[in-house]
Amino acid sequence: MSSTTRAARPVPACPIRPGEPCTLCQVDVTGPQDCGLVWLVMGDDELRAGVHRSRLAAPGRR
Ligand code: SF4
Repeated sequence: MSSTTRAARPVPACPIRPGEPCTLCQVDVTGPQDCGLVWLVMGDDELRAGVHRSRLAAPGRR
C-alpha cells in the first residue's frame, strides 16, 4: 500500500481586500491574475491609494 502526499497550493491573496484570500468572488476568474475588478481598481490612482491605505490600517499588516 502506498501513500501519496500532495503539497498544498498556496492560496493567493486578494490584492484589493488586504489580509483576505482570493475567494474567486468574480465570475470566470481563476485568481487575482485575471480578475477584472483587480485590474480596474489597480488601474485607478485613487482606488489603488485607497487599497494601500486600508492595507496600512489592517491589523497584522503585511
Ligand atoms: S476574484 Fe478578484 S476581487 Fe474576488 S477575491 Fe479574487 S482577486 Fe479579489
